[in-house]
Amino acid sequence: MNAHSEIMTKLKLPDGILIDGTFQPAASGATFETKNPFDGEVIAALPSCGQADVDAAVASAKAAFESGVWSGLHPSERKAVLHKLADLIMDNVEELAAMEALDAGKPIADCLEIDVPETASCIRWHGEAQDKLYDQIAPSSPDAVGLIVREPIGVVAAVLPWNFPLMMMAWKIGPALATGNSIVVKPAEDTSLTSLRLAELALEAGVPPGVMNVVTGFGPEVGEPLGRHMDVDALTFTGSTETGRRFLEYAAQSNMKEVCLEMGGKSAAVVLSDATDIARIAEIQANAIFWNMGENCTANSRIIAHKDVYDDLVAALAKTVGEWKLGDQMDPETRNGPLVSEEHYGKVSGLVDTGKAQGARVVTGGNGAGGLLFEPTIFADVTAEMDIFQKEIFGPVVGVTKADSDEEAIALANGTEYGLCATLYTKDISKAHRYARMLKAGTVGVNAYSEGEISTPFGGFKASGFGGRDNGIHAHEQYTELKTIWIDLTA
Ligand code: NAD
Repeated sequence: MNAHSEIMTKLKLPDGILIDGTFQPAASGATFETKNPFDGEVIAALPSCGQADVDAAVASAKAAFESGVWSGLHPSERKAVLHKLADLIMDNVEELAAMEALDAGKPIADCLEIDVPETASCIRWHGEAQDKLYDQIAPSSPDAVGLIVREPIGVVAAVLPWNFPLMMMAWKIGPALATGNSIVVKPAEDTSLTSLRLAELALEAGVPPGVMNVVTGFGPEVGEPLGRHMDVDALTFTGSTETGRRFLEYAAQSNMKEVCLEMGGKSAAVVLSDATDIARIAEIQANAIFWNMGENCTANSRIIAHKDVYDDLVAALAKTVGEWKLGDQMDPETRNGPLVSEEHYGKVSGLVDTGKAQGARVVTGGNGAGGLLFEPTIFADVTAEMDIFQKEIFGPVVGVTKADSDEEAIALANGTEYGLCATLYTKDISKAHRYARMLKAGTVGVNAYSEGEISTPFGGFKASGFGGRDNGIHAHEQYTELKTIWIDLTA
């Protein structure tokens, strides 16, 4: 038994998918294995669901919604349950963190300090917000009252990615449950463990059976049937742009359900000519690309530096690489564990090879480091035509591009199909405001890499986002319908 197997014996591994408050196998009895990407060891066999399981989960969610057992509660009652869920998550922080780290390859220190606490605080924030919100009354003549009210949308399906399994689930279920919906969650096939454990804690907290269901399995067998389901009222998705596009087709070809998509990115940091403290910028930008192995939708995989600061920045970036200790994700000192899967490793290393072949200069890294570990990699002399400038790599790989002017730097930053995040470094307050508005991205960090906080809306422009935002009170819009009630007072 190795150290990981010993940790596994202490985890409460799931007893199946959750439908209608009961853990159960897939209707077909089929299973698939989920593995530890560090050593390939099988952690668990999970139900491989299909149409029958999706139908059962959606029917359960629909019945629960229509019964009013959750949708009909006073918001403060839902708040109490969501607060209890947040407490239970923190009571189980070590177990959830270990499960997440083993399943996804994420460093245990990050899971303990970021992923699990942020999951709890997201659910608490939305629960807390819900009983502070008011509806509206429209301007009207004295003969009428026009009420503008928000109502829960009904059955929400959430299809999730593998890079932040718990946090992405919280970003969806927090606002969806707070606003009174029932939900069916489909986690990514590589990282389903914590979604089932979180659902178990939700039951324990008092979320009624049927209000939250979890079905595991693969995209075409579980994601597509959810996307096409006639009784799913809204579909919220985080994942690649390629898959996101499919959900628009599924909706158009079925019941035109509401669709909200958070997708890929190719975010750029723009370092203007007047930026100072290049060593600090390099530290921040190393974190912005190497954290979570670069498996982060807002990873700043491009740096566009004005020619006056370019050489200093490339040199300063190279100095940061030694701080990113690679290795076993369960070692508290590890800052980067393995990439999530062999398939993903192949994609990252393939794009790095393409970068070399297309003439980008390797400053440091550029190779695997054993198993699914990949060296933090810095390319310089990257041009806008190269694949590593245009395509999402989703690994610890950054390309630095030289710009002759500040205006050219902004144009280069805007020069991909994506628009999720951007970062801007300048000491000039006017440039900060002007250029932040010129950057085509859902979030712009000025003089720091930032995704904002739970209180600020998160989502992308262009091919990075569609149909709404996660986080902030703005997230509630994707889970509610706006209704006008016009009351004639002359009757
Ligand atoms: P993915 O698109 O491959 O998978 C996401 C989910 O969609 C999984 O649950 C998968 O099973 C499902 N799926 C796959 N094919 C499907 C199909 N044909 N029909 C229905 N469902 C299908 O993405 P991923 O590789 O899991 O995640 C990485 C991607 O997620 C990156 O592009 C990253 O930028 C993006 N991401 C975006 C955000 C954001 O908020 N914008 C956050 C995290 C990750």
